[in-house]
Amino acid sequence: MLKYDAIEVHFGELWLKGMNRNEFISRLKHNISDMISATGADIVLSRDRLFIYHKKEEDASEIIGALKSTFGISWFGPVLLTKNSVDSIISVSNRMFSADDTVRVSVSRSYKGTTFDSKELVGSFIHSGNLNYKLDKNSDKALYISIMASGASLCKEKIKGLGGLPVGSSGRAVVLLSGGIDSPVSALYAMKRGLKPTYLHVHAFSDNSDAENSKMNEIIRILRKFSPGSKVYFIPSHIFQTATLKIPRKYELVLFRRFLFKIAEKVAEKEDAEVIVTGESLGQVASQTVKNMIAAQNGINRLIFRPLSGFDKAEIISKAKELGTYTLSIMPYKDVCSIGVRNPSTGMLPDKVSVLYDQCDIDAVINRSLILSDVL
Ligand code: ATP
Ligand code: MG
Repeated sequence: MLKYDAIEVHFGELWLKGMNRNEFISRLKHNISDMISATGADIVLSRDRLFIYHKKEEDASEIIGALKSTFGISWFGPVLLTKNSVDSIISVSNRMFSADDTVRVSVSRSYKGTTFDSKELVGSFIHSGNLNYKLDKNSDKALYISIMASGASLCKEKIKGLGGLPVGSSGRAVVLLSGGIDSPVSALYAMKRGLKPTYLHVHAFSDNSDAENSKMNEIIRILRKFSPGSKVYFIPSHIFQTATLKIPRKYELVLFRRFLFKIAEKVAEKEDAEVIVTGESLGQVASQTVKNMIAAQNGINRLIFRPLSGFDKAEIISKAKELGTYTLSIMPYKDVCSIGVRNPSTGMLPDKVSVLYDQCDIDAVINRSLILSDVL
């Protein structure tokens, strides 16, 4: 087995964001360091890329696994490092390939002070009598050589990163998480845009522990791979259900949604979050009308981010499968009653919702529900 010197990490969009570049890079470095702290690896910034120097060979696969769920990375790969000399580059490349390999050599130079340019370096490979593998510029197998001021890196496997922005670089968000298919996917896209999530789940059990030990636990475990340690609020719905018994059933759904936004706003204050994220997508169900959405969000003093607005259900499902939450989401789960209202009103007006809100004293419902909540 080949022993690599380091794992090289390239940032995508970050590099383009001139103004906040340094802040974003240090955020990315911090996030990676959080993910791989157990390995004790060193992370070193070298101009436009990071190098992760792992302590033990066995750590490399753990680090690669963590990088696959880190936003803000365009690509990464294990590399061998050497000095900027043709002979040493060729000799290191001989350790990476064997006689059965046919290889395409690709050179990029971020440092122009070498005695050779990219073409000349490839030429030296072609004319070298010392290669222990074959060359073919059309081969699928590649050797990527990167020339930097500090030396050369050689890589044969560029692994595509998730792109996006490092989690936290856009601030914090309260993510409304249900047991359904959509909200875990919306959480993923919120993280992709640099939001650090705190999850809020309203459940229909009498005990928080029933929700905490349900499939929600698994869904959250998957989402935490992208943002380790994110908090979750488990909030019971029974106080809301009791308080709204006297209102017509058809209004309950929009009132429940206003309640969700209001309680999210309360949690957002506590968690210093400027954004609320939902898995809503326009017109997906009868109740997700423009009118109902406006009525539900009326008076909410946060940016409401709906990452799935432009997605078809089939696209969301395929993303949920890729994420690994789909089979959990379709498992039976005790839904909050309001969600299952038959024939909900589709044209609610904001004022109407506000009247119902005050009638049921939802502010008090929120305070009492929060007292009963668990934060994990
Ligand atoms: P999902 O599949 O995410 O449940 P959905 O298509 O079933 O979405 P709704 O049930 O109308 O749609 O919910 C829309 C959004 O409201 C959800 O994506 C989620 O963000 C939020 N939401 C719904 N129910 C809850 C809940 N019990 N706790 C927290 N948030 C919720
Ligand atoms: Mg739902």
